[in-house]
Amino acid sequence: MITRKAYAKINLGLDVTGKREDGYHIVRMIMQNVDIYDTLTFEKNDSGMIKLTANKDTIPTDEHNLIYKVCDLLMKKYDIKDGVDVHLEKRIPVAAGMAGGSTDGAAAFYGMKELFDLPITKEEMCELAVKLGADIPYCIMGGTMLSEGIGEVLTALSDMPDCYILVGKPAIDVSTGWVYTELDSKEIESHPDIDGMCDAIKACDLKGICDRLSNVLEPVTKGKYEVIGKIEALMEDNGAIRSIMTGSGPTVFGIYDDEDKLKASYEAVKESGLCPELFMSKPVNPKD
Ligand code: ATP
Repeated sequence: MITRKAYAKINLGLDVTGKREDGYHIVRMIMQNVDIYDTLTFEKNDSGMIKLTANKDTIPTDEHNLIYKVCDLLMKKYDIKDGVDVHLEKRIPVAAGMAGGSTDGAAAFYGMKELFDLPITKEEMCELAVKLGADIPYCIMGGTMLSEGIGEVLTALSDMPDCYILVGKPAIDVSTGWVYTELDSKEIESHPDIDGMCDAIKACDLKGICDRLSNVLEPVTKGKYEVIGKIEALMEDNGAIRSIMTGSGPTVFGIYDDEDKLKASYEAVKESGLCPELFMSKPVNPKD
């Protein structure tokens, strides 16, 4: 049996610089893995089928799941006659801006490669993956990355400096499609300083990173759901250097230079009842 951890991501920066004719948005994003992860297990079976199970019944286990799509694609590409049993232990908040589905899809590439000894490189995985989801190539590479194009142009950055990260998801569901449609209907007022963020990461400058946290999708989601601003204020009032929304939201994270401040903030947010899903976390840079 093969076991893989699939790590969630946060966005230290998220800019949208244009839109392609096929509808994909052109982005410049700084992606960072955090140590909140799903666990996937893979085992061969002799049915020739993909059998996917999950610990939460709200998660699709059919061809709509990215794990299923990746297994199916690889079984066809490599003419695999055996079947595979995959179990997903989901911990990453769903539809939260943390690339939960994409990271599971990335883990499925690695799990299938190991289980069936497939001669596939990371670069080949990324080429296949971008057709299934724009964030999957990043999830295959992982760590601290600048992601450009529609998500397929990746540049590795140095590791983020040590820090503590509080991640909280309020009890609302936000449609990524709605957020981008709203964004398209407005002029973007201010663009994140993505180049400055890359420099701050290179310089291991945590304060510089926090000063540049910025996400063009935040005004859209935060404008509709005031709980996002409330969580950010609570984190900052309790010791976060800065707090901001990740992806299209609604998940918010705060960055701390001190574990006691992280714990104080955790207690304050927990006490408020604003985030049913709340994690004390750290940046991770998984190697394969
Ligand atoms: P992103 O940050 O890439 O926008 P997200 O965190 O907003 O991702 P996901 O957790 O990936 O969103 O879930 C979005 C939808 O994708 C779910 O509602 C679900 O129907 C579908 N989905 C497909 N595969 C998975 C998976 N492995 N885990 C969870 N949801 C999945």
